[in-house]
Amino acid sequence: MSDRPINLIILGSTGSIGEQALQVVDMHPDKFKVVGLAARDEVDVLAQQAEKYKPRAVALGEDKYYGQLKKKLSDQVRLLVGTEGMCELASLEDVDTVLVAVSGAVGIRPTLAAINKSRRIALANKETLVAAGDLVMNLAQKMGSMIIPVDSEHSAIFQCLAGESKFLRNLWLTASGGPFRDFDQEQLENVTVDMALKHPNWKMGPKITIDSATLMNKGLEVIEAHHLFAVDYDHIQVLVQKESVIHSMVELVDGSFLGHLGVADMRIPIQYALTYPERFNSPAAQLDFSQLGCIHFQKPDTGKFPLLRTAYEAGREGGTMPAVMNAANEVAVKHFLNRNIGFMEITASVTKVMERHDVNYHPDLEEILLADVWAREFCQSLIVKGDI
Ligand code: MG
Repeated sequence: MSDRPINLIILGSTGSIGEQALQVVDMHPDKFKVVGLAARDEVDVLAQQAEKYKPRAVALGEDKYYGQLKKKLSDQVRLLVGTEGMCELASLEDVDTVLVAVSGAVGIRPTLAAINKSRRIALANKETLVAAGDLVMNLAQKMGSMIIPVDSEHSAIFQCLAGESKFLRNLWLTASGGPFRDFDQEQLENVTVDMALKHPNWKMGPKITIDSATLMNKGLEVIEAHHLFAVDYDHIQVLVQKESVIHSMVELVDGSFLGHLGVADMRIPIQYALTYPERFNSPAAQLDFSQLGCIHFQKPDTGKFPLLRTAYEAGREGGTMPAVMNAANEVAVKHFLNRNIGFMEITASVTKVMERHDVNYHPDLEEILLADVWAREFCQSLIVKGDI
C-alpha cells in the first residue's frame, strides 16, 4: 500500500454499511480520503457528511430533493442526481476504491460504471451480483477491476480461500437463522414488522433484516457466492450457526475446513475490503471464547423458510430468473415494511412472480433491467389487487 491515502467513494453513505464505513475512516483518518458520497434521499445526513468529509462531489438518488440539498452544500461540492449522477460519481478520476453499499438492484449501473474505470470495488450490494452476476464478473475480469466482498460470509470465504481455490470441495455459508429460527408455522403467520426488524446478532438496514428473517438473504448470498468464487450450486452449502461467530468456512479436498471467526461487527469486513491486503486495527470488540461457551449447528429448515430453496432454484435456472426473483422480493419486502402484506406473503409474492416469468437465458444488461422492471410491476399489481 502506498503512503498516500486511499481515495474512496461511498455509494449509500447514509445507510448502515455506509455509516460504519465512515467510522472506519474516522479511525484511520490519515489512510483514507473520502472523495465522493451518495445516498438516495437522506438530505440532512448527507449534507452533514459532506460538511465533515469535504468530498469533491455528492450524488442524490432522488432528484426531487436536489434544491433542498443544494442549499445545504458548500459551493466547492458538486451535486449530481439520479442513477446517472451515481454513475458519474462512481466514474470520478483519481479514485482507488468504490464502496457499493446501496440497497437493491439500483446498484447495478454505478457498479458497472466503476468497473469500467478499473476501480477496486468493495461490494456490499449483493443484489447487483444476484441480478447481473455474469455481466459484472466478466467486465471486472476484462477491466482488471478487483471485487472484494463486504458481506461478512463472503469476506470470510475470500480470506479462507486465499491460495486454496483449486483444492475446494465446498463453500459453507453460515446463517444465524434469523429471529424466527425456532418459530412454528402458526407463529410465522403472525409475525409483525417490529418483530422482524429485531435481528438477534447483526445491526443492519431494514431490507436486509427482513431478508434475514425469511432466509432470502442467505439465498441471495448463495447466488452471490456462486458468482464471486465461480463455484457451482452443488458445492455451496448453508449451515445455521446461531451465535454468528463463524462467519463462513471452506471445505478442502483433503477434509480440512478453514473458517473465519470473530464478533458480529460489520466494521471488520468493511475495513478489510478497503485495506486488503493490509490489515489495520479495528474498533470492533475482541471475541472472548470463554464467555461464548459453545457454538450450535443446525440444518436450515427450507420447509418453514422456502425462499432459501427458491433462491437455489433461481440461481440454477440462471438468465433473467435471479434478477426477477430479487426484484419481486424487493417489492414484497417494501410492502411488508409498509404493513400492506403479511410476513408469509413475501414468499407467496416472489413465487408467483417467478412462475409467470419467461426466462431469457442469455440476457444483456438492458434485458436484465427490463426483466427487473417487469417483475417489480407485476409483483406490485399482484399485491395491490390482493391476488397473492
Ligand atoms: Mg451476510
